[in-house]
Amino acid sequence: MGEWRWNKELHSRYVHELPVRKVLVEYIYVDDDDVSVHSKCRTFDEVPQSAEDCPMWRIAVHYPVENRFLKPVALYSDPFRRGSHKLLLCDVYNDDWTPSKRNFRKQCDDTMTSPEVKKVAPWFGLEQEYTICDKTGYPIGWPPSSHPQPVDPYHHEANGTNKTFGRDLYESHLFACLYAGINISGGNAEAFPGQWEFQVGPSEGTRASDDLWTARYILYRMSEEFGLVVTLAPKPLPALNIGACGGHVNISTKPMREDRGIKHIEAAIKRLEKTHLPFLGICDPSGGLDNVQRLKGWFCTAPYQQFCWGIEDRNATIRIPRLVADDGKGYLEDRRPASNFDPYLVTGALVRIIVLGETI
Ligand code: ADP
Ligand code: MN
Ligand code: MN
Ligand code: MN
Ligand code: MN
Repeated sequence: MGEWRWNKELHSRYVHELPVRKVLVEYIYVDDDDVSVHSKCRTFDEVPQSAEDCPMWRIAVHYPVENRFLKPVALYSDPFRRGSHKLLLCDVYNDDWTPSKRNFRKQCDDTMTSPEVKKVAPWFGLEQEYTICDKTGYPIGWPPSSHPQPVDPYHHEANGTNKTFGRDLYESHLFACLYAGINISGGNAEAFPGQWEFQVGPSEGTRASDDLWTARYILYRMSEEFGLVVTLAPKPLPALNIGACGGHVNISTKPMREDRGIKHIEAAIKRLEKTHLPFLGICDPSGGLDNVQRLKGWFCTAPYQQFCWGIEDRNATIRIPRLVADDGKGYLEDRRPASNFDPYLVTGALVRIIVLGETI
């Protein structure tokens, strides 16, 4: 492979030192191909104040080329170019204005903005686990060509040399997201070497998922500067026998957050149980196949086929956090979504099941 390294010094000399009058807006979108984020930039004469200030754009996708509409939906500050430059999240439409194949935002937003759903103000906390790899795709910190064993001294939420790997990228990402205006709630080192997590929320409706996709963009974009590869793969190496990456979704509604809300949480769990298998079909982009590899009944997962719930039970499908049980109100955690889940698809379905009583 032709060797190339990010030249921080030269890049800064131009990007941060040359005064320019125009504003650069990076249009970000999820393409039809896979769980990845694409983008292209456009210059503006004025600083846009919101997504509505930004024009739609036509893009070419695939080969042979097909054209799509990019419709701006959420505007963020750009942590890379800084100043008044912006990131602009868009959703994608076909020529006839139907949502493109992987545009799950449209249906999600229609659900979230319906009067029935707005009344209960659903909040989401999205946990994103990911793995940092070297340029060959091998997770950093792993013993050469052998898999770490469960007994190896790697620990959840660890600190210390030879226990965590890649904190520089993980922590830079948290700050960049906060600068951008993403509602980050926290983060931690995860269980195996190179595995990290950040959390978004709690945020209402579609906002949580917009934030998560933009945070994923920032992570991929930032990994270029570090010369590292970030993957959202649930199993970064197929034979990995020490856990996997998830995308837990925490959800609450207004009745759940009010006194004695626990009975609404329990009612929600009953509805989730009835829709367990079809719901698993949307928890990863492979219709459930990724999760068959991940939800094994060990390393803080429940077995794929089985639906169970429990207070502070991390081997359950649905967990009621201990402090929620103690307060008698709050939220529930759905532990089924895999790390490569689409948050629009999952949060939209959760609301349709829990709030609207639909069967998916
Ligand atoms: P754990 O790893 O123990 O499952 P985390 O701290 O990683 O928990 O994630 C908890 C998530 O729950 C955070 O994103 C937080 O913002 C979110 N959260 C907290 N309160 C609520 C609530 N009322 N409704 C929805 N999500 C919530
Ligand atoms: Mn071109
Ligand atoms: Mn977590
Ligand atoms: Mn975790
Ligand atoms: Mn969790």
